[in-house]
Amino acid sequence: MYLMLDVGGTAVKAAFMDAEGKILREQTVPSRASFEADAMLTSWFQDLGISDQSGIEAVGLGLPGSLDRSSGRIISSPNLQKAEGFAIVEKLEKMLHAPVVFENDVNVFALGAYEVFRDQGVEHLLAVALGTGLGGGLIFSGTLYTGKGNAGEIGHMTFDRQGERCGCGNWGCNEMYASVTFLRKQVAAGLGRCSELPPFWRNHWQAEIPARDSYLAAINGKLIYAAASAGDEIARAAFAGLGKNLGIILGSAANLLHPEVIAVGGAIIAAREFFWKELEQSLQGHTMAGIRSTWTLVPMVETRHTSFRGLLRLLREKGLVV
Ligand SMILES: [Zn+2]
Repeated sequence: MYLMLDVGGTAVKAAFMDAEGKILREQTVPSRASFEADAMLTSWFQDLGISDQSGIEAVGLGLPGSLDRSSGRIISSPNLQKAEGFAIVEKLEKMLHAPVVFENDVNVFALGAYEVFRDQGVEHLLAVALGTGLGGGLIFSGTLYTGKGNAGEIGHMTFDRQGERCGCGNWGCNEMYASVTFLRKQVAAGLGRCSELPPFWRNHWQAEIPARDSYLAAINGKLIYAAASAGDEIARAAFAGLGKNLGIILGSAANLLHPEVIAVGGAIIAAREFFWKELEQSLQGHTMAGIRSTWTLVPMVETRHTSFRGLLRLLREKGLVV
């Protein structure tokens, strides 16, 4: 039995799989990123009911952030700051008496997407994950491309050099223009311009309408999705803007990489009805002849299961799944 852990800032998605890739059990537990690294790991296994006696043969670990593969440490991770510098691979191996392989979470997602398409002869794939930020993963000639270690950071290429400050310290990065963060800012700004709140927002907040300068804090991705579903024009415009921006970003990437498949996943993919058409149009408009329309743009709806498949593939590539 193999354990897959897809770790995010708020939750750890876990799956127990057999060598064929069948999910025997899956569970989501809190990641407890505010704990010290040791206590955080202990809490995962308590919540999952796992010990070194559980018969786990190998562990595949997806982590958000940049990684040092030679030392098995997280170099930097805005979502798991307390684990930065921590020898997470060595510690987990000791805790579970099993080999552990880790990889960046979006690279894992890219590997999982590749598993879906390799039977169709696909060798070159670009994967992006749309969430709080914008992550990327690259498969070239059937192999995960990591460069010197942390390639694929499509979210931190520059979209607008006069744009807003990004969490990475740079200005105007792609992920400020195609992410939940972008949607929230667009909607908060749109509501701020209204003399009277549109019906969806008035009904939602009712007696507790936030102050105009607190809209941003009161808005999350789920709420924007609900608003768009209810026909709210500000939410719909934010999604349309995201689709257009993402098309520019992926068009540039396609010109550089010429992938056969562009796989788009992450939390926002559930709301694709509100941005997919804009994305397709924008992508067509920002790629060169010779590259344009030669790829397949695919929404990966089952992001979680795609990542589990990617983790199993990672273990198989290391010879740990037999
Ligand atoms: Zn950045």
